[in-house]
Amino acid sequence: MTSNVEKTVLVINCGSSSLKFAIINPDDGHVFLNGIAEKLGLPDARIEWRFEGIDKESADLGAGADHNVAVSFLNNNILSKRKDLLDSICAVGHRIVQGGELYSEPTLVDDEVEKGIEKCIPFAPLHNPGHLIGIRAARKAFNKVPHVTVFDTAFHQTMPDVAYRYAIPEELYTKHGIRRYGAHGTSHGYVYNEAARELGYEASDFNAITCHLGNGASISAVKNGKCMDTSMGLTPLDGLVMGTRTGSIDASVVFFMCDVLHYKVEEVREIFNKKSGLIALSGTTSDWRGICEGYKNGDEKCTLAFKMFCYRAAKFIASYYVPLGHVDAIVFTGGIGENSFIMRKQVIEYLPEILGARLDDALNEKAVAYLGGRGLISAPDSRVKIIVVPTNEELVIARSAYKFVK
Ligand code: ADP
Repeated sequence: MTSNVEKTVLVINCGSSSLKFAIINPDDGHVFLNGIAEKLGLPDARIEWRFEGIDKESADLGAGADHNVAVSFLNNNILSKRKDLLDSICAVGHRIVQGGELYSEPTLVDDEVEKGIEKCIPFAPLHNPGHLIGIRAARKAFNKVPHVTVFDTAFHQTMPDVAYRYAIPEELYTKHGIRRYGAHGTSHGYVYNEAARELGYEASDFNAITCHLGNGASISAVKNGKCMDTSMGLTPLDGLVMGTRTGSIDASVVFFMCDVLHYKVEEVREIFNKKSGLIALSGTTSDWRGICEGYKNGDEKCTLAFKMFCYRAAKFIASYYVPLGHVDAIVFTGGIGENSFIMRKQVIEYLPEILGARLDDALNEKAVAYLGGRGLISAPDSRVKIIVVPTNEELVIARSAYKFVK
């Protein structure tokens, strides 16, 4: 595919020890370069990258190399070979996990915005500090172009209070901001709009339940373009069964583990985030392909993991008929949602008969995104359209950033 190299956006997704980057044409989504710097701050810090998705190259960044070193390497070593690409960058888009109630739109970065992201650190202690380091490094290295932040929480800011408030004393919300914020918003918004376009609806007159099912997983209810509810909560720990996260769980489990079993809070946090979900249920893997393999071979633990994942997803889908009233489409995306047709079959089978959701088995089995499959998978007599839409968060970030150039 040939694509115009005149104007591109550098998209950055920064963690505490990693920095993912991509240079994208905001019009057609073409990816000219993508890569990741990993193990930043550690002895074996390294970077790898591909031009046009092929010919992977890599380099050591030197012991203890930080985000600044990674951005300089991108600028001075990788892009020095492609001056045309370097000159084409007209904006930098940053993915930010938590914007709290401060940000409901992509936002031009200035020192105030950096402070705002800092204020949201308590809600995303594992993510926002890394984002800030990345923003600061990139603003230094690419100082002639606008930098724009795109918040994972922004899409969910339209939720009504009945969906975002917790039934806890009011001042925990008003003084301390404890409420449902959600996550994966960029993906939910993107696949909602793509599904509306592909199915021939106006985005202002389309109700969909969007299921982003990957290692992290969440489901949203979207009514006429506005998010009405979502399964993740204060943090991405809530909701569905995930690769290593519990999803929804009675808070008393924490008290029991601490008071009766004498776990420390940090240990519970580690168990709930890193040692629960599919890995805990299967005892062997957090990876969905491994779970499916075990399920097919009759492994009891993998069978439970497979069924619980699908059952919980179906329960959220059914419950989102409440905020939506009428549902036009169920949309599947994310590594599992886009590829696992046996998951989609099981989820739809779990839905109550009264909802009338029916798959076309042949279309479902063909819609495997990594093989190029996608699109409508519901049967003609289904009361709700069911569709697979591969997500593309980088493209949304690139487009959002590019708007500030225009
Ligand atoms: P995240 O971005 O949250 O890390 P992804 O959206 O990349 O996660 O999804 C990762 C999950 O998708 C893994 O559990 C993986 O097993 C699953 N997955 C990827 N490809 C396939 C496939 N072809 N069939 C089934 N599951 C898949």
